[in-house]
Amino acid sequence: MHAVVIHAPHDLRIEAVPAAAPGPSEVLVRIGAGGICGSDLHYYHQGGFGTVRIKEPMVLGHEVAGTIAAVGSDVSGLSVGQRIAVSPSLPCGRCRYCQEGAQQHCLDMRFYGSAMRFPHVQGAFRQELVAKASQCHPIADGLSLGEAAMAEPLAVCLHAARRAGPLLGKRVLVTGSGPIGALSIIAARRAGAVEIVATDVAEAPLAMAKRVGADVTLDVARDKAALAPYARDKGTFDVLFEASGNAAALVGALDALRPGAVIVQVGLGGTVEFPMNTLVAKEFELRGTFRFHTEYALAVALLSQGLVDVKPLLTATLPYERAVEAFELAGDRSRAMKVQLSFA
Ligand code: ZN
Repeated sequence: MHAVVIHAPHDLRIEAVPAAAPGPSEVLVRIGAGGICGSDLHYYHQGGFGTVRIKEPMVLGHEVAGTIAAVGSDVSGLSVGQRIAVSPSLPCGRCRYCQEGAQQHCLDMRFYGSAMRFPHVQGAFRQELVAKASQCHPIADGLSLGEAAMAEPLAVCLHAARRAGPLLGKRVLVTGSGPIGALSIIAARRAGAVEIVATDVAEAPLAMAKRVGADVTLDVARDKAALAPYARDKGTFDVLFEASGNAAALVGALDALRPGAVIVQVGLGGTVEFPMNTLVAKEFELRGTFRFHTEYALAVALLSQGLVDVKPLLTATLPYERAVEAFELAGDRSRAMKVQLSFA
C-alpha cells in the first residue's frame, strides 16, 4: 500500500506503508480522491507554517473520499462498497470543549496530516485508510469522489459563514479568490447573501470567483482603488470574509465595510499592523474561524443534494504517483484552483 509522504521541504515521496485492519468501530476505506490543500502546500514548500514544523516523515492529506472495503464488527449503518466522504477531524469527545460542542478546540484533537502534535497525525493521501465509522459520511450516487472530497474545504467555509452570523440579505466582500475564497462565495450565496464582491490579485482566480457566483470581481493588483466606490457613506459591506491571509487585503478592505460590519478572518496570516482606530470608530467585529465539526455533515448534505456545485473548482486530477507534479501545479494560481490526487 502506497502513501504520499513529506520528509522535508520539497522532499515528497511515494512510499510503501504498512496496511492495517479496521478495529471493531472502524472501517477500511479504499481512497479514491484526495484534494491538495494550502496547508499541504505549506508542508511541501516550507516544511510547515507558523511554529508548526515537520519533525518526522508524515503522510499528507486531509480532503479525501473513497469506498468502504471492510467494516469492523461493531459498525452499523455502513457497508462494503458504500461510497463515503471522510472527515479528517477526530476530536476526543471527552474534553471540556468537546462537551460544549466546540470540537474544533478539542484539547486532544487528531486531525489528519497535521504536525501540530508529536508524533504527527499521519494523513490520508494513501491507497487505504482505516477511519472511525463516525468519520465516514455516505454520499449520493450522482456525486463523484472528487466532489465529495471537497466536503472538507467546504466545511471550513460553512463554519466561517456560521461565524459571520446571519447572511440573509447581506452584502458580502470576499478578499482572496483561491479555493477557500471561492467556497466562501458559494457558502455565502447559499446562506442568502444578496450581493457578493470578490477581490484577488490575479486573473484566473477572479474568473473562477465569477463562475461560482460572485456578482462582481475586482483585480486589486491592476487597480489599487478598485474598492473605492464601495467606501461611500462610510462603507457598503456588512460582512468581510478575508480568505487571502494577506495583511494588505484585510487593511485595504476596511474603508469598504459599513459601520458594525463583521470581519471573518479565514486566511492564515502572520503578524499584521492593523488600524485599531478604524475598528473602534466603525464598531467592527473581528472574528476568527478555525476548521469545523458539525459543518462537515452539512457540507456532504449540500453536495449530495446538489444544492452547491463545486465541479468548476476541480481543475486537475493526477494519479498519486505524480504527486510532486500535482503539488507544483497546485501552487500555480494561474493554472490551478483545486488539484486532486487519484488513488484508484
Ligand atoms: Zn476533545
